[in-house]
Amino acid sequence: MRLLLVLPFLLSPLAIAGEHEHEHAHAHASLDRHEHGVAALDVALEGATLELELRSPAANLLGFEHAPRSAEERQRLARLQEQLGRPQALFALPAAADCRLTGQQLDSPLFAATDHAHAHDEHGGSHSDISVHYRFACRAPAALDGLDAAPLFRAFPATTRLQVQLIGPHGQQGGELRAGASRLAL
Ligand SMILES: [Zn+2]
Repeated sequence: MRLLLVLPFLLSPLAIAGEHEHEHAHAHASLDRHEHGVAALDVALEGATLELELRSPAANLLGFEHAPRSAEERQRLARLQEQLGRPQALFALPAAADCRLTGQQLDSPLFAATDHAHAHDEHGGSHSDISVHYRFACRAPAALDGLDAAPLFRAFPATTRLQVQLIGPHGQQGGELRAGASRLAL
């Protein structure tokens, strides 16, 4: 596999299949408009369950959108995976709500099989999204009066705006968070 990666022309038949598959996955998972600096955050609070889904251009989180090409880029991707695995360090929830992470799922072509991502990259100039879904169980949901994305803006300064869709006890609403206005009322 490693040998194929340094001889990309050998991948051509795979690249065609991979590209097609990717477009399908991309259309399904991507933002309506992939705009660097902007990410989407869906928030759903129902009973004691809080769900967050962040969909972001990879550039906002990683600084690049191609399959990693160097040891350094592979390391950055691994570090990002770790960071995204600790959502409590990205979204501040009121301690009194006593929310625990009960599930999470990370999706991106960048985390998929290497030759798939590589095939995508071979056709050049395309964009990649990263999406991550979290589920929390809160022992005292009445205390869950908001969340603050300030840690996320600090961790990923290339993210300038979060377009929020919220479904909560007060119905559905949209909004936008920024570094200086990062708190979402629930
Ligand atoms: Zn992009």
